[in-house]
Amino acid sequence: MIAERPAHSGEPAVRRILLVEDEPSLVLTLSDRLLSEGYQVETAGDGEAGLARALDGSFDLILLDVMLPRRDGFEVCRELRSRGVQVPIVMLTARGQVVDRVVGLKLGADDYVTKPFEMIELLARMEALFRRARTPASAAAGTYAFGDVRVDFRRADVLRGGEPVTLSALEFKLLAYFIQNRGALLSRDELLDKVWGYDAMPTTRTVDVHVASLRQKLESNPSRPEYILTVHRRGYRFAG
Ligand code: CA
Repeated sequence: MIAERPAHSGEPAVRRILLVEDEPSLVLTLSDRLLSEGYQVETAGDGEAGLARALDGSFDLILLDVMLPRRDGFEVCRELRSRGVQVPIVMLTARGQVVDRVVGLKLGADDYVTKPFEMIELLARMEALFRRARTPASAAAGTYAFGDVRVDFRRADVLRGGEPVTLSALEFKLLAYFIQNRGALLSRDELLDKVWGYDAMPTTRTVDVHVASLRQKLESNPSRPEYILTVHRRGYRFAG
């Protein structure tokens, strides 16, 4: 199902939105409003169709429901990211699916709204993603989200639960290194070498101090970290 609004010459390129949603009334309301805001909208009513459309079309943003027939929104999101599709994705979650929201961000979604949502809120979030993403391809490459933390590498800023977090330049560099090497065991020596550099003469204790500080700023319970994990006697592992 394709709904198009003709682009007038001289106007900026029309942004293309893929709406993957199985609830007909929501599909209608959302498409109507998005069209009236000047977006071009294409819809898919189940996860499989949504995935196929997302893979062969070039969209500027995907609105992805979680509870979908055939393949759920999480699967679709994960599949798209694993295939290198970096278009911004906003998940539409049901009320109270807090765990799902976190899972969604971990799987590579850029944002989420909880149903029932105000249209104005969704539009604002979409606009925020467009502002961040000058081109669709650079959107996901420039940001990384884990838990309620969002890191914007281009702007070198970090948000936690939507609030700015102040990191020192070294803390930011350390966090970026963790993210780039997520899942890998990183020894203190490697971190010193890669983050502090050859010229610096800090001790491995310096690494621990900075890790502790990052945990204070980013973990919900710094003494029981979920993301920046200690590997006993060997170093650290980032599990975001
Ligand atoms: Ca649904």
